[in-house]
Amino acid sequence: MMKPDIMPEDQPFTLSTLPPGRAQKRLALAVMLVFLGALFILAGGLSNIQLRRIDSFVPAYGMAMFVNDMITAVLLFNQFAILRSCAILAISTGYLFTALMLVPWMLVFPGAFAPAGLLGTGLQSTDWLNALRYAGFPTFVIAYTLLKGVNSPKRLWEGSVGATILSSVAMTSAVVCSVTVLAIVGDAYLPRIMLDPVHFSTFALYLAGCLILWNAIALTLLWIRQRSVLDLWLMAVVCAYAIEIYLVSYPGLARFSAGWYAGRVFGFVSSILVLIVLLHEITTLYAQLHRAVLAQRREREARLMTGDAVSASIAHEIKQPLTTIKASANAGLNWLDRGEPELDRARDALRRVVTAGDRADALVENIRTHFRMGVRPRTSLDINDVIRGALTVVGDKLRTNRIAVRADLNERLPRIRGEQIQLQQVLVNLIGNAIDSMATEDGERLLSIRSEVHQSRYVMVSVQDTGKGLEPGTDDRIFNPMFTTKEDGMGMGLAICRSIIGAHEGEISVTPDKGPGAIFHFTVPFDPGSAS
Ligand code: ADP
Repeated sequence: MMKPDIMPEDQPFTLSTLPPGRAQKRLALAVMLVFLGALFILAGGLSNIQLRRIDSFVPAYGMAMFVNDMITAVLLFNQFAILRSCAILAISTGYLFTALMLVPWMLVFPGAFAPAGLLGTGLQSTDWLNALRYAGFPTFVIAYTLLKGVNSPKRLWEGSVGATILSSVAMTSAVVCSVTVLAIVGDAYLPRIMLDPVHFSTFALYLAGCLILWNAIALTLLWIRQRSVLDLWLMAVVCAYAIEIYLVSYPGLARFSAGWYAGRVFGFVSSILVLIVLLHEITTLYAQLHRAVLAQRREREARLMTGDAVSASIAHEIKQPLTTIKASANAGLNWLDRGEPELDRARDALRRVVTAGDRADALVENIRTHFRMGVRPRTSLDINDVIRGALTVVGDKLRTNRIAVRADLNERLPRIRGEQIQLQQVLVNLIGNAIDSMATEDGERLLSIRSEVHQSRYVMVSVQDTGKGLEPGTDDRIFNPMFTTKEDGMGMGLAICRSIIGAHEGEISVTPDKGPGAIFHFTVPFDPGSAS
């Protein structure tokens, strides 16, 4: 049986718990190699070229980075809300911090929003704010890495996720505001990163070296404690950060050098990387959930269908003997009510009542076994006997509807192995449908039943009528449970036939278009014990 396409219950479903697949590891490694390759090319030649100062570059870059980091922070805070993990809280706050730090940096950058910067001249404060951002992110990554192993006390967060996130946002904003004020107010006292508005000091290079080292420590820790998809991509991000710091400071030793611009591009790539992976994973997860919900719905429908099918088939099978019981009991009463009661005829009628009752009993038992998937004992049978038995059962109905019967039975057929009541039921259903189909037609009413050998391994029985035939376009659906075109039909007869014949390793089919009416065929394999 095909397994429903649903997620295994124990599958981790967030980026921070999902272990990376081999393809993903390869991709992350390839990305890091591309970064390093680009670094060598840029550091080797292009980056010490001084380019034109583009004032709009800083706000454009800053805004793009701000949006990326903000969205990433929101998605990661969401993961925190699901997992309640201190580590995820740390990295979400890290992204929030880098996003918020971009704001004062843009505002003080000379020429970005105002010639001397919107928040004062700030010759040193601009790059000190930038350096704090560069130092902050790896710090949060290190905190994330160290907290990862800690079993987060889930109870601690219960009911207070929103408050935790809010306080994290408030504290981060407070820190960003404080350092901004300190940097702007204390600009004159800060160690000199800039010699003039364009050129870096030697101190700037030492500072950049320290920041690169700090990122390298974060990278190493991530590498050592790497477990999830998030860890993998954070490694790529930290790698890009380190490259950005190097390119921005070393090769040109000045703002607006080719290296400085290229470093910013690295910064942008690093900020968008985790965002892309997060979005991709969330979309994949959504698709999996969608499939899981559909599979569950199908399963539920199938279960309901089985329930309906059981009740419908009991009703369907029982209807026919009940009709006989009612008719025979009425006939019996009539014979007894006469002035001179006809006792022999009344006795016959009562016998028919008993036979139909026994049949109903056997049918109920049979249906129960069928739906329990139990195996009833099979015996060696002559299919012609089964056909004759079925014709006896429907004898009254055939006579009432004035239907002639032509039985073309091959008396030399090999025996089959099967369950008599079930096979008889198949024939009763097929003949019952044939009668229904002819009962509404005025022309010739002939039921032909044929038994023959099929493909030298099977016995094939055909039931042909001269009725109105199948309704156009229904031949592929008539075997479906609950499919009916009759006003009082239940649509279970043929479904039961198919299931019984299938259990006997045979097949049932219909040929709708040969002459008037329809021909149904079914096959049952020879009994291996009696084959000569
Ligand atoms: P029901 O008899 O309750 O409708 P069945 O599963 O026995 O359920 O039959 C399904 C449908 O197949 C019928 O409603 C009818 O449209 C079609 N069908 C079956 N047998 C015949 C037949 N001999 N001639 C024409 N249509 C038939």
